[in-house]
Amino acid sequence: MNNEINDPKLKAQTEKLIPFHGYLSTGAFIGIQMLNIATRLLDIKDDERIFVTCETSNCLPDPFQILRGCTIGNKGLKILDHGKMAATINKMAQPGQKHVKGVRIVLDPERTASYPLFHSWYMNTAKVSHEDAIAELLKADENVYSWYFVDVPVPARKKKKVTICRVCGESFVQEADETLCKWCAESYKSK
Ligand SMILES: [Zn+2]
Repeated sequence: MNNEINDPKLKAQTEKLIPFHGYLSTGAFIGIQMLNIATRLLDIKDDERIFVTCETSNCLPDPFQILRGCTIGNKGLKILDHGKMAATINKMAQPGQKHVKGVRIVLDPERTASYPLFHSWYMNTAKVSHEDAIAELLKADENVYSWYFVDVPVPARKKKKVTICRVCGESFVQEADETLCKWCAESYKSK
């Protein structure tokens, strides 16, 4: 499969991704293409920190983790599990900036329709192998995506308040003045 990728940069990206993700999945390959589109549109340099919000937890986040170091723990990666093949990418804000320019990229069903085999993978109307789906993506290149620029709000730094839960005695970071940790609050609700 990997031999069919002629572009040396794309080939190196997939070679780095495979041991991390386990194999070259269609969704992970889509993530690579989205990353490359954003890199071009936002003029992202190799050593620049980026932030991504992926709208599915499936495959799509992995290239951003392994190729750009965006992780949940370093806040470079956010997942909205909406089951959508879409991602918003932005660079780091400058000090004092409340918004930063980002780009939202979507795998566009109106555009994938021009590639029937790939479209049936996307709509899950036929069993299409990853090899066949990726072969179509290599042909289509950027033609299956739509994108537009967005203003991404920069999260305000809040002072961290830590307290002890009155039920379990464990410490937690308060959002407001709540006295129950979320774990205990949830188990009260379910009773
Ligand atoms: Zn508790």
